[in-house]
Formats: sequence, C-alpha cells, structure tokens
Amino acid sequence: MTNATEYVQRIQNNIHQKDTGQVEFLQAIDEFMPSATQFLEKHPEYIKRNILGLLSEPERIIQFRVPWQDGEGNWQVNRGYRIQYNSAIGPYKGGLRFHPSVNLSILKFLAFEQIFKNSLTGLPIGGGKGGSDFDPKGKSDDEIMRFCQSFMMELSKHIGPSIDVPAGDIGVGAREIGYLFGEYKRLKQYDAGVLTGKPLDFWGSKIRTEATGYGLVYYVKHLLQAEKDSFEGKTVMVSGSGNVAIYAIEKVQELGGKVITCSDSSGFIYDPEGIDLALLKEVKEEKRERLTAYAEKRDSAVYHAGQSVWTLKETADIALPCATQNEIDETLANNLVECGVKIIAEGANMPCTLEAVNVFEKANVWYCPGKAANAGGVAVSALEMSQNAQRLSWESEQVDRQLDEIMKNIYQTCRQTAAAYGNEKNLLLGANVAGFEKVAKVMYAQGLV
Ligand code: NDP
Repeated sequence: MTNATEYVQRIQNNIHQKDTGQVEFLQAIDEFMPSATQFLEKHPEYIKRNILGLLSEPERIIQFRVPWQDGEGNWQVNRGYRIQYNSAIGPYKGGLRFHPSVNLSILKFLAFEQIFKNSLTGLPIGGGKGGSDFDPKGKSDDEIMRFCQSFMMELSKHIGPSIDVPAGDIGVGAREIGYLFGEYKRLKQYDAGVLTGKPLDFWGSKIRTEATGYGLVYYVKHLLQAEKDSFEGKTVMVSGSGNVAIYAIEKVQELGGKVITCSDSSGFIYDPEGIDLALLKEVKEEKRERLTAYAEKRDSAVYHAGQSVWTLKETADIALPCATQNEIDETLANNLVECGVKIIAEGANMPCTLEAVNVFEKANVWYCPGKAANAGGVAVSALEMSQNAQRLSWESEQVDRQLDEIMKNIYQTCRQTAAAYGNEKNLLLGANVAGFEKVAKVMYAQGLV
C-alpha cells in the first residue's frame, strides 16, 4: 500500500465514521477519493500538509429555522441551510435548492462537488450550496414570496458579493431569485452581485437561464468533435423537464439531434417524432403544468406514468440525465448500454450511482461527470458577477461564445489530465484531478487557515 493510498483511506474512513448515514455525501466522497489518491501519489507535498484532510471538512455549515405563513393563515416552519465548503479560490458560490428531500447529506454532497466544478471553470469562485426542505409544488405565488423573504431574513447575515453568492437549483428559478433579491435589498442594500440567476430586468445575465443546458451540450459537442463526429442525426434521451433539461433539448435540436424523451417526478414522455420544444416550454415554463398536459396536446407523445425514463427500451446514441441525483442505478445503466448509448453526460448532479458509472466504464461508454459537464451554469453565474461589478450588461452572443469556450476548456482539461494519468477515456478522473489540483495548490499557498 502506498503512502497516498494509506493517507486517503484514513481520511475516507474518518469521514464515514463521523458522517454515518449521510448517504449522498459519502457517495460523493467515495467517488472522488480514488482520483485524489492517484494525484497525491505524484504530489506528496500535499500529504505532508494534510491538504485533503482540510479540504474534506466544510469551512462552515449554517442551519436555521424558516418560519412562514401559508395561504390559510397557518404558521409553518421549514429548515434552511447554507454550506460554505471551501473559499480557497474565491467567494463561496453554488445554488439554493427548495425540495422536500433536502437535508444536510444532499447539500454537503452538492457543495463538495461544487468545489471542483467551480475550480474547473477557471473562474475565481469557491464551493457552496444551500436550500430548504420547503416544497414549492402547489404553493401560491404569495406563499412562495413569504417563504423566500423569511429564508433571506436569516441567509442575508451570511452572504455578500465578496463572501458568498447563491444562485438557483431545483425549485429555485427566476421568480424565487427575484423575491430573495428583493428581501436582501430591503434588509441590507442594493447589491446586484449578491445573487446570480437574476431576471434580466435587474442585472441578470443574458444566457444564464440557458447556460447549464447549453453548456452540457457544448461539452458533448467538443467530445464528439474530437472523435470526428457531431450531433447531426443523433438520437438523444433526456430526463427532467426543468431548467437544465429544457435548454439541453433546445441546443441538441439546434445542432441537428433528435430528443425523444423528457420526464418529471410523476412519469416520462416518449415522443418518437422528437420533443416539441415550444409546447414543452408552454407547459412547464408558462403554465407550470405537469407533463401529462404535454401528452394531451401532442398526438405522437406517449406518457408513462410512475416510471423512470431510463427503463425505455429504444435505440439511442446519447443520454443526458437532467433531473436529480441517483436516477440511474446499475440496472438502468445496463439498459442504456443495451439501447446502444455511447455517451452519458450529466446535466444533473450525481445522477449516476457509483455502480452505474462502473457499468459505463466496462462497456466503454463515454461518461461525462456533472462536475465538468454541467459547469456551464455556474460559469455564466460568475460572468454575471463580473457584469454586475462592471455595471455592464453583455450581449447574448458574447456570453454564449464565452460559455462555449469555457466548456471546451473544461472538456480538454478533463481529457488531457486523464491522459497524463494514463487513462485518456476516464473523464471522471480528469475532472477530479484537475479540479482538485488547483484548489490544493491555492490552499497550500494560503497556509493553515
Ligand atoms: P428544476 O427544478 O428546474 O427541474 C428539475 C426537474 O427534475 C423537474 O423536471 C423535476 O420534476 C425533476 N425532478 C426533481 N427531483 C426529482 C426526483 N426526485 N425524481 C424525478 N424527477 C425529479 O431544476 P434544474 O433543472 O435547475 O436542476 C436539475 C438538475 O441539474 C439538479 O440535479 C441540479 O442540481 C442540476 N444543476 C442545475 C443547475 C442550474 O443552473 N439550474 C446547474 C448545475 C446543475 P418535478 O417537477 O416533478 O419535480
């Protein structure tokens, strides 16, 4: 056993002991540690300074009560969090998730991944994440507003344009960011750079809404180009029908691919003629309806209630999971391989279990991990921060060009780093090592803080 192996195992065991039961967080740790071992074998100086031990421990975890009044006048309470995981390379940056499943484990996994994702963008942002177990589904606009205001009442004590800059995630879109921003302004001052993902009317960036989905497709585009291929004529399966999924579908279609599926937590749509994007946007973005409404209005669509989209047995070239964590397990991964899928790129964070990733590796399927492939959202958030600091608003073409360039760099960094470690196709190894390397170097230089 090498020194690095023994050192990393000690840290990993320690985390498992301290954080028993935090399933998603431990999964993210277990996925990262083999790459860290390979990196540390080449960099014993970081073992000597225990950089991985320091990095594994969140700098700060804030948990708070969120009291709010529902439409019937009842007093309700939810739990709010902000994980400020690592600020080596810049202010904490990462989204807010409002979903009933939210707990400390899920937010710690998301914040941990965010450290490496943000590092890969090449922009000066640290890693953080936050949210609440509040369920926005079925709530009125006024209830959402009151909840956001109460959430910000506490969160405002801990954030700022140079401290911590939250954005959206599941259940938090432009509407919620608007209410959160309004409350921050009332409590503190007008500071455009305190949140990103803002509506365009008050200092939001063009292309931020589209950025994660577009960026995901750009990442795959660069992979295809390197393999002398393109999206033209490809059949693509997508999960989810939220922000990431919708704009991934839009960009795939623009590049000549056909998307045959999308889903929500109640079921999935199979549309062999290709998803009608205008209808999907009308149903999900304008009317905030369920996917059953899409199926009712589209003759070619078949709705499968209560089933995972990844059970579909149809031929496809590319799969883009864009819903949530752990949606693809070993069995579903095997199904995708049988469907002929050659590339899996994660729009969601950690949608594939460790066992699913092993299936893809064995089947020689390209696996593009979320921390690299879905970094476009946070990258454009960082560009939004730059625009806010300059008090300027850049044109769509400029932001889109920069997004494409950033995704190309991330893809190339992953592939070149993987190649330097003797495994060119292992983009997970490339992403982990390249993301970690930059943070480790900076932590080393900043001393024991
Ligand atoms: P949205 O809230 O806009 O959409 C989420 C979609 O996923 C909805 O279709 C939702 O269905 C579905 N979904 C959520 N939870 C589940 C579940 N437990 N089972 C099945 N389906 C589910 O979120 P986003 O599109 O913003 O986020 C999707 C993923 O992308 C998340 O993993 C997020 O962390 C990740 N991501 C998002 C970024 C962003 O910029 N927004 C940036 C990087 C990553 P339903 O409506 O039924 O709940």
